[in-house]
Amino acid sequence: MAMNRVQFQPGPTMHKFMELYGTQDKCEAAVIGWRWPKGYVCPSCGQEGVSFSSFRRGSLLYRQCSGCHFQCSVIAGTVFEATKLPLTIWFLAMHLLTQAKTNMSMLELSRHLGVSYPSAWLMKHKLMEVMRLREDSRQLSGRVELDDGYLGGQRSGGKAGRGSENKVPFVTAVQTTESGEAQFVCLAQLPFTKEAVTAFVDKSLVRPLTVVSDGLACFTVTAKAGVHDRIVISAGNPSAGYARFNAVSTAQSNLKTAMSGAYPSIKFAKYAHRYLAEFQYRFNRRFDMRAIFATLACVASRSQPRNQQFIRAAEVGC
Ligand SMILES: [Zn+2]
Repeated sequence: MAMNRVQFQPGPTMHKFMELYGTQDKCEAAVIGWRWPKGYVCPSCGQEGVSFSSFRRGSLLYRQCSGCHFQCSVIAGTVFEATKLPLTIWFLAMHLLTQAKTNMSMLELSRHLGVSYPSAWLMKHKLMEVMRLREDSRQLSGRVELDDGYLGGQRSGGKAGRGSENKVPFVTAVQTTESGEAQFVCLAQLPFTKEAVTAFVDKSLVRPLTVVSDGLACFTVTAKAGVHDRIVISAGNPSAGYARFNAVSTAQSNLKTAMSGAYPSIKFAKYAHRYLAEFQYRFNRRFDMRAIFATLACVASRSQPRNQQFIRAAEVGC
């Protein structure tokens, strides 16, 4: 069997990861480098390149501005703020989440890290929120395959397919090469109405654009954004088997595999936007497994804090 160059590319080994980020000091130095690449910027007075003194309070490293004397821990103002866990645990979590072949469940993450399930749950949701924000501005162009799908699996007594109950509707858009090879994906949780699809198209698809989709009526709005190459799918000719529709079908199949393995009984209705974002983030960076960890750690170091109340309350698009 031919080796897939994406699936079999070498990522950073655990040995190499531990060498780079195996101690609190090394993780703190990395966060400092990502937060303040051009020298310390005081969060209080805003002075750039200001001189400072360093000290520890408990296990946390602080900096004190020489100008206004404001004290700031290296994780204050980042996604790691207020954590009781050492940065080494956060870094290991980011390594595991970005290197695993499919999505990693909270339970598996908690076992690997040696932390409680609630801690792993909150940590993973905060990191998924970082991924969501990072991917929020993703735009696709050129040849784009578009299809609808549902998260949450079929429940007993519900109707199958479109119109089924208790499922979370979402659209998958895949930018491909001219020959149909998948490049980037954009997922969005939304109802299948013309208004919602129009808003998605306006935000996420840009000209030049050729949209390939099936006969779902709400997708006809894409004609306004570019050429709409509409494939009419009949009951005996499902989109999954259609050659011109291959990239989006494959992406949706991979998504279902990743979800069903890691999240067999998840409440998709509440957190679907984050689970979709996690898949999108990993898919769009699958060509460079060496960079995917550093990118996430860098963005996390520059992301604003999100407390538990925000994480548990956030529901987007439903
Ligand atoms: Zn200051």
